[in-house]
Amino acid sequence: MSQLDRRSFLKLSSATLIGITIGGASLQALAAEAVKADDPLAVAMKYVAKSATAGQECGNCMHYAGAADTGGCAIFQGKLVAKAGWCAGWTKKP
Ligand code: SF4
Repeated sequence: MSQLDRRSFLKLSSATLIGITIGGASLQALAAEAVKADDPLAVAMKYVAKSATAGQECGNCMHYAGAADTGGCAIFQGKLVAKAGWCAGWTKKP
């Protein structure tokens, strides 16, 4: 393999890897759906989309990852929880 061939191969490999990474992230974002009330984990964790516990909501829980009205949660992997929501796993954000 000449040096030019090796360089071309590396460029193609890098572009492919970036494409796969971006594509995977996009698919993951599209796949994220809100946690449903009848989701077995939601039932087990007593998740509600509107917290009834003063001072405790997903938005100030250490497991919440997001700034918008919905975000990710370390417990509900791959799904979105409401910023105003709550579950039994609530832990104060440090
Ligand atoms: S652990 Fe519970 S309270 Fe905390 S962000 Fe997730 S769903 Fe909300």
